[in-house]
Amino acid sequence: MPGIDLHAHSSASDGTTSPAALVQHAVEVGLEVVALTDHDTTAGWDEAAEALPAGLRLVRGAEISCVHGGISLHLLAYLFDPGHPPLVQALQRLRDSRLGRAERMVQKLVADGVPVTWGQVQGLAGGTVGRPHVAQALVDAGLVSSVDEAFSDDWIGTGGRYWASKEDLDVLEAIRLVRDAGGVAVFAHPAATSRGRTVGEPVIEEMAAAGLAGLEVDHPDHGEDARRRMREVAADLGLFVTGSSDFHGANKDVALGAWRTDPAAYDELVGRAVGAEVVQ
Ligand code: AMP
Ligand code: ZN
Ligand code: FE
Ligand code: FE
Repeated sequence: MPGIDLHAHSSASDGTTSPAALVQHAVEVGLEVVALTDHDTTAGWDEAAEALPAGLRLVRGAEISCVHGGISLHLLAYLFDPGHPPLVQALQRLRDSRLGRAERMVQKLVADGVPVTWGQVQGLAGGTVGRPHVAQALVDAGLVSSVDEAFSDDWIGTGGRYWASKEDLDVLEAIRLVRDAGGVAVFAHPAATSRGRTVGEPVIEEMAAAGLAGLEVDHPDHGEDARRRMREVAADLGLFVTGSSDFHGANKDVALGAWRTDPAAYDELVGRAVGAEVVQ
């Protein structure tokens, strides 16, 4: 499979490599295309574009925190106008909600005598704050041995002892905002059951009707069954299929480029976008 990886995080959210280091790393692992998809922000776009090495194409995007029927889900948005006011405002609200929620998690920990501070977590987050930053504070305090271990019921796993909820954007509204901003929407890791409940096929159908363009089928959190099932759903609904690593630097053990997208799907994605250009 050629080198197209359409989902990666930088230190503008909860990855550990800077946007500039991420594009450099993409070339080093042999990618021809990389998408920068930080949580609820476009803050890394300019740095990544300015540092872009020769021979690499950059798809600018974001991963939007969404909800539908009480189930949380992630929407990948690509090549949208980063200045489209309703989308800018929605992303700002999502980041604000993350901030309050991370602080509540820290307050719960502190109330139980766990030696972490809000200042420490803020220092770890260079942009959009996320649970991996709280997790890193727990690692630094010697309370858990890895970021992954902090995502358990005893700590900040979804519904866990020190977990707090956040306000996400209804996914159908998010799809409309992305399309209004000239972007292309892809449902991220639609069958990643290890992260919690996932929406069923009827909701994916509603998303398709709202303008969803693709499904991220090949992803580290999908087993073979999930991938087969999601490939069928995509075919049924006329959605293209992507494959991506969801790279988070040292915060997760998947390598950049470990999962990749077929060039035909990439071409379809780029062909639909009118909000921003691929940087090359
Ligand atoms: P948040 O967006 O703040 O709710 O945090 C979720 C983020 O943490 C997602 O980007 C996941 O990639 C990451 N994450 C979820 N589960 C784990 C895990 N077990 N280990 C490391 N990172 C995780
Ligand atoms: Zn993340
Ligand atoms: Fe995600
Ligand atoms: Fe992600």
